[in-house]
Amino acid sequence: MKLIIKYSLFKELKEAANVLLHLDEYKNLRSFILPTPKSIFSFAINKNTAIKHMVKIWTKYELDIIKAFRELKIKDPGVMPCYLHGMSCQGWFDTDDNSIHVRFPDAGGDKELLDTVVHEILHLATYEDKYDYDEREEIVDKILAKPQFKKILSS
Ligand SMILES: [Zn+2]
Repeated sequence: MKLIIKYSLFKELKEAANVLLHLDEYKNLRSFILPTPKSIFSFAINKNTAIKHMVKIWTKYELDIIKAFRELKIKDPGVMPCYLHGMSCQGWFDTDDNSIHVRFPDAGGDKELLDTVVHEILHLATYEDKYDYDEREEIVDKILAKPQFKKILSS
């Protein structure tokens, strides 16, 4: 498992367009930041700080997470770009390029960031076409309830 933490203005604008085209599905999500010129460009300006911060969090927990994957015999998702964002929902994943996407929370909570990263990695690791949205969430939630992950995510 290798996470490559980065920022891409193209990915940010692509997501902004996607959100605005499907705003009805997004606006009621628990945690959602509307794509606006302000949310996009203020994050773009601070991207290096965000990357550094995310690298720091990931480095701290990476080995514990790899160990949990091994213990629970979850498929290694391989090399994953981890794109950081300033708007949209908390996180999403893309099987086309094996990437995960993490939205920085308003308050900058490290726990929320780590939770989101692990949640999206588990989606990639367990993804199969045959599952619908609810089934995919159920699979991930079940894994996150195991002691190996509870221990990491409650620290
Ligand atoms: Zn999910």
